[in-house]
Amino acid sequence: MLRFAPSPTGDMHIGNLRVAIFNYIVARQRGEKLLIRIEDTDKERNIEGKDKEILEILDIFGIKYDNVVYQSSNFHIHQEMAKKLLEEKKAFACFCSEDEIAIEREKAKLEKRPYRYSGKCEYLTPKEVEKLKNKKPFVIRIKKPENPIKFNDLIKGEIELTPFDIDSFVILRADLTPTYNFACSIDDMIYDISLVIRGEDHLSNTPKQIHIRKALGYDKEIEYAHLPIILNEDGKKMSKRDNASSVKWLLQQGFLPEAIANYLILLGNSFEREVFTIEEAIEFFDLSKISRAPAKFDIEKLKFLNKEHMKKIKDLAKRFNVNSIYEDLLQIFKDESSTLKEIKEKFDKVFEKSTDEEFSREREILKKEILENELEENYDDFKKRLQANTGLKGKKLFMPLRELLINQKHGAEIKDLYKAMKPYLKEIIKNR
Ligand code: GLU
Repeated sequence: MLRFAPSPTGDMHIGNLRVAIFNYIVARQRGEKLLIRIEDTDKERNIEGKDKEILEILDIFGIKYDNVVYQSSNFHIHQEMAKKLLEEKKAFACFCSEDEIAIEREKAKLEKRPYRYSGKCEYLTPKEVEKLKNKKPFVIRIKKPENPIKFNDLIKGEIELTPFDIDSFVILRADLTPTYNFACSIDDMIYDISLVIRGEDHLSNTPKQIHIRKALGYDKEIEYAHLPIILNEDGKKMSKRDNASSVKWLLQQGFLPEAIANYLILLGNSFEREVFTIEEAIEFFDLSKISRAPAKFDIEKLKFLNKEHMKKIKDLAKRFNVNSIYEDLLQIFKDESSTLKEIKEKFDKVFEKSTDEEFSREREILKKEILENELEENYDDFKKRLQANTGLKGKKLFMPLRELLINQKHGAEIKDLYKAMKPYLKEIIKNR
């Protein structure tokens, strides 16, 4: 079984969506199940409703899964396991207060060395522990391993962390909630996860998670693939401050889910073809071939893919919930737009009043001429009449005419617009 394990702590980041897509693709390739595990261990950071939003986004992108679980429903198991490690002396109760730890951290910072736990509570006698337990709140730390922990990442290659770097870290907080590493490691074990695909930011957590499972006596090896981070256009890690990092924002901008997914699969990969759906990628995607280098987000490329996927949409009127007589006009706008939002903006503008001053006089002359006569079948005949009866020509004819039609001076060919808009042209011009 594979899993996608989002934390319900904010808007879904494109990096997370990419992780979800890759997990889905590889699960399908391997004929394995996909579990969605909502990692709600950090009560203070959880935001209500974000779990539902994540599941909605997965639906929008066509990512199908077999089950959804909430990490918090396993707290009792995490607590049991911590107890087991305590009993086996693989973990110990730590009574150091947050203030004490903060002082040590500060000291390490001043001395320019990485902070590590002092080890102070590891060697307390059982008697001392019993006494302290009645007086002070405590956390549980797992003892650091004796040897380095190594694993072979499918993308990054061999990774090793020393006992010093793993350190004796906290697995259960004073309020009995598990830390991320502890909950994650145990859940990967109890759901029998075979491969973990996640972001590179978790690379240094992996040896800690392996250490926990080893201490619990679980020796099945879990494979790992850590995806390189996504950089923004300035070459910095894409953060919440970059609008385009939010899946919701991209959807609001009118990027199609098909195009966003296509783009995220393409990022850091090279295939023979560039335009494809998630289902098609299942045929040729190869996890081990993803570039190790960070990938740079390029909105122009996303726009290109969006245009390609928009070509496939045949029912824009339905999509925008407008009368089907406007379908041909929407298709014209589609050809010159990169996003659905752009199409809709152009379309909505058609129904607004023209306020541009430059050709307001010419617009009035043309408006009168058009409204007082029958429309010709053919655009060339229509144009000839306008020219003959108004005396307008060139820019002074075409710009105000296009404005009368679509409320824009530049844009699509008037000939095409005329053909598409003829059935309701006078109605639009009347209100212009
Ligand atoms: N909840 C973690 C995150 O969203 C999951 C990491 C993992 O896949 O183990 O970053």
